[in-house]
Formats: sequence, C-alpha cells, structure tokens
Amino acid sequence: MISQDKIEEIKSASDIVDIISGYISVKKSGANYKALCPFHQEKTPSFMISPAKQIFHCFGCHEGGNVFSFVQKIEGMTFVESVQLLAKRTGIELDYAVAPGVKSDKDKIIGANKAALDYFRETLASGGRGAEYAASRGLSKEIIDEFMLGYAPPGDGLFRRLKEKNVDDGIIEAAGLCKRTGPGFTDVFRDRFMFPIFNIYGEPVAFGGRVLDDSLPKYINSKETVVYVKGRNLYNLNNAKKYRAGYIAVVEGYTDAIALYKAGVRNVVATLGTALTQDQARLIKRNADSAVIIYDSDEAGLNGAVRGGDALFGEGVETKVLIIKGAKDPDEFIGKNGKDAMVKSIESAVPFIDFRLERIKASGDINSAYYKETALKEIAAVIAKAESFVVRADAVKKAAMHLALKEDTVAGYLAGFSGKGAEAIEEAPEKGASKERGANLAERSILKAALSAFGIEDEQGVLKHVKYAREHAGIEYEGFYNKVYAKLLKRIEELVLEGGADVQRKLDMEYIEGGEESRVLSGLYTEISAEKRDKEDSVYAEKLMLIIDECLETRRKAMIKAKLDVLGGMIAKAEAEKDEDALLKLITERQETQKILNSRGEDFE
Ligand SMILES: [Zn+2]
Repeated sequence: MISQDKIEEIKSASDIVDIISGYISVKKSGANYKALCPFHQEKTPSFMISPAKQIFHCFGCHEGGNVFSFVQKIEGMTFVESVQLLAKRTGIELDYAVAPGVKSDKDKIIGANKAALDYFRETLASGGRGAEYAASRGLSKEIIDEFMLGYAPPGDGLFRRLKEKNVDDGIIEAAGLCKRTGPGFTDVFRDRFMFPIFNIYGEPVAFGGRVLDDSLPKYINSKETVVYVKGRNLYNLNNAKKYRAGYIAVVEGYTDAIALYKAGVRNVVATLGTALTQDQARLIKRNADSAVIIYDSDEAGLNGAVRGGDALFGEGVETKVLIIKGAKDPDEFIGKNGKDAMVKSIESAVPFIDFRLERIKASGDINSAYYKETALKEIAAVIAKAESFVVRADAVKKAAMHLALKEDTVAGYLAGFSGKGAEAIEEAPEKGASKERGANLAERSILKAALSAFGIEDEQGVLKHVKYAREHAGIEYEGFYNKVYAKLLKRIEELVLEGGADVQRKLDMEYIEGGEESRVLSGLYTEISAEKRDKEDSVYAEKLMLIIDECLETRRKAMIKAKLDVLGGMIAKAEAEKDEDALLKLITERQETQKILNSRGEDFE
C-alpha cells in the first residue's frame, strides 16, 4: 500500500508538462500546451495539457486524466506501477521497509545488473571476439544500441568489475551473475554474446548469453531472482512499446526479435523459451490491442502458438498467427526471401480462431462424431474466455463452418459450457435515444458548473447551491441518466458537508487511479480552463448558480415527462382491459403530474 500522502507528494513533484514532453513534443498555446495525441492518429493537435490543473485531455479520442493516468496509458502500466515509475523519476523513496537512503536488495541487484550491462557493452565496443561475432551476424551499431547487446569475455572479469564497484558478494550471488566456487567466485557468463532483459521500468533484470560457435548449451539465461521471474517479462517490450504500431509482434527468441527489427518490424517482443503466459498476455494487452504471433513451423512452435494464442484471446487481444514456412526461423526466412516478404507475411497472418480450428482439425478425424464432440469441447473452452459478444459471435460462426455444424449447435453447446453462448448470437442492445442525450447534457452542465466553482471566491456558495437547488427540484442522484456525473456530484455534496475546504483536491485524489470518473473530470477541467470567464468572481458565481438551476429544471421536466409516458402506457392498458377503477386512479395521477410539470418551473426561485 502506498499512502495517499506519498501519492500526493509524488504528484506535486511530477510536473505534467515535463513528464508528457519526455514522450511527445508539446507546444505552448496560451495558458495551456497542445500536442498531437499519442493515443490516436491525428494530423492537427487536439491533445491539451493544462499546467495549472496538472491534467491532460484529448478532444479527439477523449482520453484524459492526471500525470499518473498519462504514464499508465503510455507505458501500459497499472496505477501502482505508474506511481513507482514517477517516484523513481522524482527521487521520492517508496520503500518504507528500509530507512531513507538505505537501498533494498531489489535495488542493489538492479544496480549490480546495471554494472554488468555496462561491462558487457564496453567489452563488445572494445573489439575482439564479441565484435567479430556481431559483424558476422550483421548486427549493426544501431541494433547493438537498440537492444543494448554486449559481450562477456572468458575469465572472471565481471566479478572483478563488480568488486571494483563495491558490490557485496551476497548481492553478486543473488543477482545470478557469478557463482560461488570454493573460496572464490566464477562468472556465470563466459565467452558469450549477451542479451539483456529489461523490466517495464527499463531496468536490466536478467541476461541471456549465447555461445559464439555451435557448442552446447547454446544459451544460458539468468536464474530467477527477486527482480526476475520467468514468464512475467517480455524481451524487448521496453523498446517495442515506443513504436506504438497498434499491434505487437510476438516471437520466440532473442535472435527472432532482432531479425524482425532488421526487417523494419520494431514493435516486436520475445517470450523466451516458454509459451506465452497469461501474465505476458496481460502485458501485451496493456500496450496494444492486437498481436501477431510469429513462431516456427516445428511442433514446439505450433504448440506454442496454440497456447500463447489462447492466453491472448482470453485477454481480449485481437490475435493473428503467422507460422514461418520454408525456413527454420524468421532470421532464415528474411535471409532467403527478403524484408518485404516478411512484412507481407505478417499482413496476411491468419486470425487466431481460424488457426486454432485448423490445428484441432489436424489432430483428429473431424468426420467422426466422437472427435467432433472433442473438437467442439476444445474450441468452446477457448471461445468462452472472450468477453466481447461480437468476438464470440464471430468465433461461433467460424467454429460451425470448420466443424461442419449448425451455428445453433455450437452456440447451444457454448451456452451450456459457460452461460455466455446464448447472448453470443443476440443483437447488440440499442443505445442512446435522444431524450437520454438531452438529460445527459443537462447533468453534465450541472457537474461542469460545480467544477467551475473550484478556486473562486464564493466556491462554497456555489457548491452548497448544488445540494440546495437539487433538493428543491425534488431530484435524487439515483434518477440520473449518467451514473458517473451522479457519482461525482454526490461526492462533491458530501465533501462540502464534511467540512468544506479543499474539495477539489480531495475529489481529485479519490479518482487519481484513473477510470471513467477521472476521464470525465479531466475533460471538464480542460474545457473550463479553455473558456473565457467573467472577471468578477461574484458575477461568475451568480452565473454558475443560474446554470445549475436551469439544468436541474430541465432534468426535473424530463423526469416528469418520463413519468407521464409510463402513465400513458398504463392508461392504455387499463382501457383495453376495461379496468375502470385503475383507469380512474391513473387518470387522476396523470392530471396531478401534468399540473406539476406546468407549474413548478415558475415558482422555483
Ligand atoms: Zn487522442
């Protein structure tokens, strides 16, 4: 748990303009900054940053929030990770388990890895065996820098370097860089070409070392440590996410990733020896909406594509599969057919569900009813994991086609399997009647007026007026069309009641973790900060209260009209059923309601 105080400390130490301009180029525009939105494609800037409010908002794709939301979105991190990253950048200590200034073992191991990385890179740059190997593999300086490649020479040079840097023996051992042998230490990586693995903060957490010839073992990898758990990191994700290509290419190993980079596919990650895990699928989901699995055509590659695809599909990542044919891996494929052929193959990768069904068909006799049932069971388990009904409906259609079954049969089986099948073939619910839009707009204006009052002289007066006027109009937040506006307004009322001061800061802190509320807040703050307003605070406050009154009145009328609609329906029913008692009661109620609609607007002052 990170305390609220800590989060606020980090927030105030991280200037949003500084942080964002570290990722994209921003231009000053009046009191605000403008930029091309990094979250959607655009030619004219609709991405705004307000240094005064410390928020950003895009008028194109409606992404918005505070400095943490930005880091979460751009780095593909969770809220806690974004706090940790900004803590590191601002030099604020988060680890209370140790006294300030004392480093934790995790930090020390990362420190040792950084020293090792420097050592490997220096050794490669100084020429010799490592450099000869790099040249023979066509690894240019650009590639060496991008992937931070290095060379571990024979002998115990790394151990000596780490001792020069005063790294403890215990840390050297815990980092898995050297092994204790008798009285001394031996380097784990000797005469190997080095591939560092970075975590999502861009820190080196592990290494892979390849032999320079054909001897075995071909690769040695760091053991698991407190900073490195297999299956939780993705090789090259630190680079891949920079390119924001919309999709992430997933390959098996270090050299596959580098081969794709050479072919111009820079948004590439490698799973390193295991099939893609659920954790890795989640990492991909946080950084891209779609993925292309590019695996070798051997048995291990095909099975890896099945398991990795299942994981991605279950996370809701739009997944395609490309099995490399006519070559043992992407490197050889590019060598034989050229870069363009690689890019073309990726473009024509097969949707995962089709690939999955082909694999199922290939592992049994699909004409046998027994196997058909096995096949149906297997594919249903995959489809059931998809959250989106559109995706499920599409998968049901494909499964029916491939297995030569009726769609109803597949959907029915799936329904029994997960309870999700039946809705898979239903239509999407209709959304957004115009009446709702009008009510939504009125509710939005009330919230906007309340937020506009933050920081003005009569802030308290305006905020108190929200509750007073709402109660006077007889409106409950439960009756709001928009639950987010209702929630935020209700919270503002409560904060005012609790004791007034600092309402905005408290409200912002409560929604600092992002989500719909924070997006709504940042959107409205940005609108407010871009608007001209009256110079006199008292005039402005008056105007805000007037807006609140008018919008509440609109809402009140809309609610009464909705009630009249319902009553109309009930009256028609009573007429048809010739239920005179009910009819009389309903007609009376309608008259009363009509009267309220016509009158109360006027005496509301
Ligand atoms: Zn945008």
